[in-house]
Amino acid sequence: MKIYGEPVSRLIEELSRLPGIGGKSAQRLAFYIINLPTERAESLASAILSAKRDVKYCGVCCALTDSDPCAICANAKRDAKIIMVVEDPRDMAAYERTGEFFGLYHVLHGAISPMHGVGPNDLTIAALLKRLQNSDTGGAVSEANVSRAIEEVIVATNPNVEGEATALYIAKILKPLEIKVTRIAHGVPVGGDLEFVDEVTLSRALEGRREI
Ligand code: ZN
Repeated sequence: MKIYGEPVSRLIEELSRLPGIGGKSAQRLAFYIINLPTERAESLASAILSAKRDVKYCGVCCALTDSDPCAICANAKRDAKIIMVVEDPRDMAAYERTGEFFGLYHVLHGAISPMHGVGPNDLTIAALLKRLQNSDTGGAVSEANVSRAIEEVIVATNPNVEGEATALYIAKILKPLEIKVTRIAHGVPVGGDLEFVDEVTLSRALEGRREI
């Protein structure tokens, strides 16, 4: 690759590290970028840096956001009694597109997978537990607190082995908190990726959720 000179080789090498980009695609993209007007190339580079620098995790739901708490957690119109647990920020975006869910989210950033060495501690399960415990008002409390207490956790992890294992684990650790834990219904294709399921199917899966 050195025939193109060091800067181009470096660009090709960096691009080829991106998921789904092979050597040929990396070369094609590199030459496309080189031929861009300077301001377009600068805009691309600064978008990458800004996304990396300015995006953080919401301190409440662990979603990607540029404000903490994120716009959904900060929205007083959302129903704070219901939390939907998803694997990925893209799953959250998919449910937002349905326009049928008005609760809050919790983003795990993955699923339990012993095969890939991903355990509960690699996910944001501890943060979820803390969030639920803080909401646990227990006994005599003011009305304001009652309205804030979480009543239901909907586990909307992907309907595959890892997603099911994660759902069962969450149901198990939430049991002592006596919060209703539900799982989205099938209708989401088994082994499917929530991100790619259409909105009608997602809405139906949400309506048909069952307690676990
Ligand atoms: Zn949030």
